[in-house]
Amino acid sequence: MHHAGRRIHEAVVEAKAQAGPWLRRFLDVLLPRTCGTCGRMLGGADPHQFCGTCWQRITRIVPPLCPRCGIPYPAATVVPGEIGHVCGACRERRLYFQAVRCAGRYEGTLQTALQRFKFEERTSLARPLAELLVETFGLFFQRPAFDAIIPVPLHRRRLRQRGYDQAVLLARQVAALLDLPIWAGAIERVRYTQAQVGLSRQARRENVRGAFRVRRPERLAGARLLLIDDVVTTSSTVNECARAAFEAGAERLDVLAVARSM
Ligand SMILES: [Zn+2]
Ligand SMILES: [Zn+2]
Repeated sequence: MHHAGRRIHEAVVEAKAQAGPWLRRFLDVLLPRTCGTCGRMLGGADPHQFCGTCWQRITRIVPPLCPRCGIPYPAATVVPGEIGHVCGACRERRLYFQAVRCAGRYEGTLQTALQRFKFEERTSLARPLAELLVETFGLFFQRPAFDAIIPVPLHRRRLRQRGYDQAVLLARQVAALLDLPIWAGAIERVRYTQAQVGLSRQARRENVRGAFRVRRPERLAGARLLLIDDVVTTSSTVNECARAAFEAGAERLDVLAVARSM
């Protein structure tokens, strides 16, 4: 980029930092589109805000892994062809979900994509992220095993702060791609909890205890549910959500998440 061009670019970036959401969206149109990971200019063929190379480099989570929470194991610990043994954390807690599976590791391109999707209103990322989810679904699950899709519920206060519910946006795309119904309000978050980041495993579990409530239990009775989340760490949030579903009589609940943070 030549000198004057760079100054205009910097001015737009600065204006963008101070602008409200609508103006920011307008300024996005003026800025040259560059890859969110490597900064390379994007052509019209790149469907999301990353170049094809960086998107391909997302670290996928593949077996061997814990059959319940899906945490990956170093390949050497498992006999080839085997999915893996149940991990220590899953053996010492009561599990309400059947299985948690994540598309990739929460790092690099996937981490940037999720942060933009969640905090910077890049809602157009819902589609490519949902495609990753559906690919992962195909590796571990079968569509006839489910009656409906449920997004991990967001507390109303958090929804007001953010203006949109990223789990609902993701779940809607996944539901469309898998041709399954979405029951968006079936479970609600009744307790406003602090972010799980930085908390110990035990503290995480206590932080989310009793956070969810099933709105119409008769609807969930006997249902086989697929819960959609963006990032999973210890699975304590999704396990608590599964507990609410289980206590309402759901038959089983599996979790499909975009990324696993280690
Ligand atoms: Zn790139
Ligand atoms: Zn586990």
